[in-house]
Amino acid sequence: MPNVVTRFAPSPTGRLTIGGVRTALFSWLYARRHEGKFILRIEDTDQERSTPENVQVILDSLSWLGIDWDEGPYFQARRMELYRKEAERLVAEGKAYRCVCTKEELDARRKEMEARKEKPRYDGRCRSVPEAAKAGLPSVIRFRTPPDGETEVRDLVLKKTIVFRNSELDDLILIRSDGWPTYNFVVAVDDSSMRVTHVLRGDDHLNNTPKQILIYDALGYPVPHFGHFPLIHGTEGGKMSKREGKDFDDPSSLGYYPRHGFLPEAVVNYLARLGWGHGDQEIFTVEELKSLFSLEGTNNSASRFDMTKLLHLDAHWIKAADPARLARLLLPFLKDRGIEASEGERLVKVVRTLQERSRTLEEMADAAEFYFREKPTDPKASAKFLTPEIAPVLRDIAEAFSSLDPFTPSGMEETLHAVVERHGGNLKVHQPIRVALTGGTASPGLFEVMEILGRDEVVRRLGGAAGRIGA
Ligand code: GLU
Repeated sequence: MPNVVTRFAPSPTGRLTIGGVRTALFSWLYARRHEGKFILRIEDTDQERSTPENVQVILDSLSWLGIDWDEGPYFQARRMELYRKEAERLVAEGKAYRCVCTKEELDARRKEMEARKEKPRYDGRCRSVPEAAKAGLPSVIRFRTPPDGETEVRDLVLKKTIVFRNSELDDLILIRSDGWPTYNFVVAVDDSSMRVTHVLRGDDHLNNTPKQILIYDALGYPVPHFGHFPLIHGTEGGKMSKREGKDFDDPSSLGYYPRHGFLPEAVVNYLARLGWGHGDQEIFTVEELKSLFSLEGTNNSASRFDMTKLLHLDAHWIKAADPARLARLLLPFLKDRGIEASEGERLVKVVRTLQERSRTLEEMADAAEFYFREKPTDPKASAKFLTPEIAPVLRDIAEAFSSLDPFTPSGMEETLHAVVERHGGNLKVHQPIRVALTGGTASPGLFEVMEILGRDEVVRRLGGAAGRIGA
């Protein structure tokens, strides 16, 4: 399909949610699939609630995910002239009109309508008043919505046509009395001036679409295609709700994932599958997604967020990742735990032993701790494995290891065998050694662990553990 243009148009009024990111991802993938253009537009006309910090979060999050844009970011607050000019044009063409009804008048009429059990709407009083008669009065600009007829939304994601009666749509305000334009108007002006061909967004905007279609028509612009993605529900069955506190504490915010050690390729893979499918394939690289994504494959019903599945995918992508890259990504997580490691061969070796066992970088950092400092021994493991009879054995192993050079797995194995033989041959020493070295009963392979810890540290920890037994 030639010349596909999509856009992501977030409002920087709050957190960037997982749902918002999925919209960005699908819009981006659709553009990439069709070798089109993807535009980033920041919808900051709500000046009170928009903040530069929220804008930065949007930019950082998209970069983290690898979602790049070909144009923008545009900021609506810097495009006021265009919106005012277009609104004036509609007034001049009779497709919009100034409304000078005061707030008090509107309130009073709304109450009357409510008392008559009518749906509150603007009663059109200023429609037929000549513009000249309203000059100089405080006013808003309203859209002259066609009173009759219907507006159809053919939805490429919901895969159906939704019909709205124009009489239900009200004469919506295009420009407020303070001169600021409203959402439905700026979206229509921007999508047309930016030549957007496919408007893809959450289905919370579905009811806005007929209003925007009428505005495109009035402005004389071609109407784009539309697709509305059903919302993402939380695992509890409700809408995925936002939590109080920082965005990185809240799994419904994108900010949670980098902070908790998820890989971007896993989040992209998960979000793509959450609302889109290609047969029963679960694992997708970004490159595959760029070549496979289609609107036909999107779900037309709500999807359910499932953290277990996401963790499963993250584990997959951690296993598949380059250990040197993981080592670099792991550094801040180690630092958070007070561990100053350096990027280098040793850290890469540490990562290799943990890649199969960690679902996130956070888990990997926890599991890596014993490589950098001795951890308190788990009392249960200690009671079971660091028994009085094992103390002399550990001491002898430490002693024998201290002169083992080079300190290689085969040398370690022979040494262990010899010491065990000396103590009667019928002893299980691997678990006691593991507990002495790592503080617990689960760790990567014992010989790998010892090789990375190094001879001196192994000797020190074994001797220390033996000394503590019975103390
Ligand atoms: N700014 C709107 C929002 O963040 C999206 C507008 C659109 O995609 O049309 O909900």
